[in-house]
This record gives sequence, C-alpha cells and structure tokens, in this order.
Amino acid sequence: MSRIWHPFTQHALQSGMTKIARGEGAYLYTEDGRRIIDAIASWWVVTHGHCHPQIVSAIQKQAETLNQIIFAGHTHEPAEQVATLLLKLAPRGLNHVFFSDSGSTSAEVALKMALGYWRNIGEPRSRIVVMQHSYHGDTVGTMSIGARGVFNAAYEPLLFEVTSVPFPARGHEQETLDALEAACRNENPAGFIVEPLILGAGGMLMYPAWVLREMKRICETSDVLFIADEVMTGWGRTGTLFACEQASVTPDIACYSKGLTGGSLPLAVTLCRAEIFDAHYSRDRARTFFHSSSYTANPVACAAAKANLDLWQGNEIYERVASVAAMQEQQIAPFRGDERFTSVRRTGTITALELKVGDEGYLANIGPRLLAFFNDRNLLLRPLGNTIYVLPPYCVTAADLDEIYTAINDAADELV
Ligand SMILES: *Cc1c(COP(=O)(O)O)cnc(C)c1O
Repeated sequence: MSRIWHPFTQHALQSGMTKIARGEGAYLYTEDGRRIIDAIASWWVVTHGHCHPQIVSAIQKQAETLNQIIFAGHTHEPAEQVATLLLKLAPRGLNHVFFSDSGSTSAEVALKMALGYWRNIGEPRSRIVVMQHSYHGDTVGTMSIGARGVFNAAYEPLLFEVTSVPFPARGHEQETLDALEAACRNENPAGFIVEPLILGAGGMLMYPAWVLREMKRICETSDVLFIADEVMTGWGRTGTLFACEQASVTPDIACYSKGLTGGSLPLAVTLCRAEIFDAHYSRDRARTFFHSSSYTANPVACAAAKANLDLWQGNEIYERVASVAAMQEQQIAPFRGDERFTSVRRTGTITALELKVGDEGYLANIGPRLLAFFNDRNLLLRPLGNTIYVLPPYCVTAADLDEIYTAINDAADELV
C-alpha cells in the first residue's frame, strides 16, 4: 500500500488510486490503457487541454535557460511579459501584479494587501465581509473567509471571525445587497471578498452579473475594498476571459490562478489598483509588503503562463469558449424539464444540476456512488454531494459531451 496521503481523500473508504500515465487534450490515459474523459478539467485548472503543445514547448525552452531565481531584488523576462499581458487583458484600472503559487495564497495575499492598505493610510481596519457558501482555499486564512462546515470544523478555533452575507439566491438578491450595505455601514470592514458569478466549491452556485455590479457599487460608495476571487471563474470559464467583465466591474484586488498556466504548472497572481500599491510605497521600510514564498514567480511557471496569455490574445480561443458554451447548453437543456433533477443551470462553459435524492449536502451518500459510477464509465466527474457539474477543457468534443451527459442520465436511472 502506498504511503501517500491524498488530498480530500478518506483512505479508509477509497483504497486504490487511479494511476494516470499520460494526458492529452481532454483525455487521461491510465497505465493499463484506459482512456478517461476529463470532464472537470482536473479540478478546474486545465483550460486548453492536457499537454498543450505551445505551453509544453514554452516550459521546455524556459527550463533550459533559467528555472529558478529569487524574486526579491530580481526579475526575469517571463515574469515581466506575464505582468504586462495580464494588465492588458484584465479589467482596466488594475495596475500591479503580485505573484504567488496557488489560489489560496493569491487570496491570502489579497487579504494582506487590504489590511496593509488601511493600516498604511492611517485608518486600520481588519474585518472581512464574505459571501455564504464561499470557498477561497484551505489555508487557515482562506478557511476563515470560506464556508464553515465539516471541512474545517477541527480547525475552527484557529479561524478568525468574519461577517457573512447570504448567497443571492434567485428572488432573494435584494437580501444579499441589503446585508452587504449594512455590513459596510456598521462594521467598517477592510474589504468584501467574493467569487464573481459562480461559487465553485460551494456547489457551482450561480448568480447574475447585475448582482455582482450592485455589490461592487455598494462597496465603492461605502469605501470598502472589493476583492474578486477569480481563481476558478477566470480564463473563460464563465464565457468571458474574466467573470468581472460581464458586470463591467473593476475590482480593487483580483486573484487569478488555476487556468493561469493553462493548468500546466502552479502559479497565481494578485492584481491591485494603484492606490493599494501606493499605500505601501514609502521610504519607510515598515510599510513594505511583507509577503513571499520561495518559488515566487518561478520562471518556468511564468513561461507557461506567458504561453497561455498568448493564446488568449488570439480570437480562436474565444470562439472555442463560445462553442463549448453552446454545446454545453445543448446538452443541459433536456435536463431542465427532467423530474429526476433540480436546479439545472449553466454559466458560460460550466453546467451543474442536482440529482434529487433524500439526503443532500457534500457528505450525501450518493456522492461516492456517483464517483464510482462515472469512474466505471471512464469519466472523471467529481460531484459535490448530489450536485453534478461539467467543467471541461475547451478542446472537449461534442462526442465527449454526449458520453458525459449520457452517463449522467444513466446514473439518475441506475442509482436513485
Ligand atoms: C480552487 C480555488 C481556490 C484555491 O486555489 P488552490 O490553488 O487550490 O489553492 C481559491 N478560490 C477559489 C474560488 C477556488 O476555486
């Protein structure tokens, strides 16, 4: 038995791990030759497909030239190019780029930037406002700003207090906006952090762009920093390059990771407005932004990100995204009137639906049974409890999607 301790895995209930030998496009291949369709983009990171030739080649070239350098006091061409391209493609008004290694750290950096900003302008604030059902990572800081539950019950004593506003469920949007307005008015918060348009790990919960726009307006009029966690929603997932575009919103701070390297290497960035950088810019060294990790802006990861950004400068990828969104709509439409499911929904390239079963929530018994069912059908689908979602790499074909949705249909027949 392997001694590896896997993430989010109950080893007592799941003994064997699927060993993957190779990835290509939308497919994963096991050592014994099984071909698996990657219907969740390997946990939401793979955008263009596994081992995209342009990204692979950029990695190879960079690895031979400079593969690591301390980023304090030093810079390198791949990082400079990534920063320039990011600021060109991100919502206008974002002015500086801070590199880190994962979505969690990009959110931690966002929190530190926000608190640093208020302290440095002589108006210290520390309260963070969050949205119910949010997920921002598994580090102690990001657990604090995320949904509380079975995932973090053991660590609760370490978590800091936040103010939570309800998720803007359809027909209840005004309650969210009122709660946000009240929190901004009464609690003098440093910032409001939110996943724009889709709450991923919280169950692929979707809300419309006008709510996002209103939330930004409230933060702006209340002088509260608006932090967009686009770690999952970025890179075309919601139909536009970044979800904030759909609400014509420029956040004060934005977090990107997952698809930043096309899903090839770990890298993250936190972008911010000039005011936030400027508040740290001083001859007083105590105002330095004290954050780093050993591999900050690793050159190989940056080269992969540069190759990804180049792809987002052409038209082809946007056409691909639109086509995946259209194919996804075609596939999900028949489920809308299906009595075996509820909350059938789509935003951009992501679809989600809930299988009607007795016990709901992440620990629902249906979860592991669905996982096993899809695994037998050579599909990588990982339902969140009874919520099944499809979040494919953009190279997915109509035939792949047919297979995926046929299996979802069969699962409802055979398991419930
Ligand atoms: C996945 C995710 C994170 C955490 O990213 P990691 O790279 O897993 O640390 C943060 N925020 C959102 C919205 C995510 O979906």
